[in-house]
Amino acid sequence: MAGPLPSQLLPDGATCDAAGRLSVAGCDLVELAGRFGTPLIVYDEDHLRERCREASAVFGDGAVVYAAKAFLCRAMARLVAEEGLHLDVATGGELHVALTAGFPPERLVLHGNNKSFDELRAAVDAGVGRIVVDSFDELDLLDALAAERGCRPAVLLRVTPGVEAHTHVYLATGRDDSKFGFTVSTGAAAEAVARARAADSVELVGIHAHIGSQVFRLDSFRRAVAVVAGFANPLGLAELSVGGGLGVAYVTGEEAPTISAWGESVLEAAAEAGVTARLSVEPGRAIVASAAIALYTVGTVKVLPGIRTYVATDGGMSDNPRPVLYGSGYEAFLPRAATAERPRAVSVVGKHCESGDVLVADGWVPEDLAVGDILGIPVAGAYGYSMASNYNKVPRPAVVFVRNGDARPVIRRETFEDLLRLDL
Ligand SMILES: *Cc1c(COP(=O)(O)O)cnc(C)c1O
Repeated sequence: MAGPLPSQLLPDGATCDAAGRLSVAGCDLVELAGRFGTPLIVYDEDHLRERCREASAVFGDGAVVYAAKAFLCRAMARLVAEEGLHLDVATGGELHVALTAGFPPERLVLHGNNKSFDELRAAVDAGVGRIVVDSFDELDLLDALAAERGCRPAVLLRVTPGVEAHTHVYLATGRDDSKFGFTVSTGAAAEAVARARAADSVELVGIHAHIGSQVFRLDSFRRAVAVVAGFANPLGLAELSVGGGLGVAYVTGEEAPTISAWGESVLEAAAEAGVTARLSVEPGRAIVASAAIALYTVGTVKVLPGIRTYVATDGGMSDNPRPVLYGSGYEAFLPRAATAERPRAVSVVGKHCESGDVLVADGWVPEDLAVGDILGIPVAGAYGYSMASNYNKVPRPAVVFVRNGDARPVIRRETFEDLLRLDL
């Protein structure tokens, strides 16, 4: 929609000077782009910490597990550790990053629908706190691991409760037709519980469910909690994880519940459903998404009269594939004029050899946007960098954390030399 960029889409630490130039945590965005180059992803560190604290305040200490796949690097793992959260890792790679960051292994939760024997062994050897078991084949692997290592890891069983989450079909994970977990309605979940209880290879401590991502409706979460509780309560297990999935607003007019509102709703639903197990949650997107702004340099402006105006940036689907994958919407703005009216309808695209290489399909920008401008895309902190690729051999962007007027690089920009690192 035309009109100025809604300030709710910006990080907590965003401020504008009298001329409308945007700073985050005291760092001028246009200056950051000049200093570190573009594309650049700028995270407001205090915003990240504040969301961690908000989640802990509502759910309680130790009940919040940050979902690493939304955004992970060693600095992020350390921040999460400092804020007292646990960390959900879903692959050997995420486990490796967390461990090399010094993340306390007992606060790690290992997820994944197809964990390899090596991944399970690495997790057990590192001493991860919980493994969330996803399949009967994984129970076989854990039997084999126990035979090899004499271990008995604490596990939760992931169940699919048969709940429609009202989100993109690729993001819905709680339906019966899902690759994740043990289905409740077919009896597979009950069978998995019986098997895990009887096994010497695992210690069954709880049940896990995650209905999907970018979910806005609190009633979806409430219903999921009720359904999962109906399955889990009679088992009398000590722990119940209800996953993550809280949506965030990306564009003008969207409104998402706050972490606190989500927490109150989930806790109330759990109390109503008679849950006595220790409840935990796994927010990813809601912690990191609106903490970051992606900065690009405008390289060309192509006006197709009566059709469309294309604003091309120096990034694209390689640093943010979400618009291509899910048709996700974003806003665009100019950090040099962050409060300006945006009357000009444009499509913001990248530099890749695909027509689908779109960042903002239906964006609005100030009338005077010009080649060379730094263009910002807010709410760029989740599933952007973590899904980034080297398509067209475009080096991945740099990432900086800003706080109290300081910019701290946490991921350096990839170089052309890096592109040859794996070539033999
Ligand atoms: C992706 C995922 C999450 C986090 O989802 P968000 O939508 O980012 O909150 C939590 N738990 C599991 C098991 C996941 O796969």
